[in-house]
Amino acid sequence: MENPLPLVEYTNIGEGDKLLALHYFDGKCCYCGCKLTRKYGFPNSLEMEHYISVDAQSVDSDLIINGSINNRVPSCRTCNRQKSNTPPEQWIRSKFKNADEIIEKIEMFFVMQEEFLW
Ligand SMILES: [Zn+2]
Repeated sequence: MENPLPLVEYTNIGEGDKLLALHYFDGKCCYCGCKLTRKYGFPNSLEMEHYISVDAQSVDSDLIINGSINNRVPSCRTCNRQKSNTPPEQWIRSKFKNADEIIEKIEMFFVMQEEFLW
């Protein structure tokens, strides 16, 4: 049986978390794969986006860890805006041919976070 996710909210993610995420995704948007910039105001500006949206969180209180690094992925501004509050897998499948690959890589990223959160 799997351990339940901890009912703890880690709302702030630090610079280390961002760097780890950027390293894992090779400095690219986890969805479209464009090269991210840390400068603000560009279509490819880095945003640490909520994989499961904050709105979805209020529907299911079990998703209280929503703001933590294991729900945050490096996305370009364009993808973040387009995805908005759509359930992540639904949005990815509607937009990308290699959806399975994208989803698997993101899921592995969250598994890796779980290993290091204690
Ligand atoms: Zn993107």
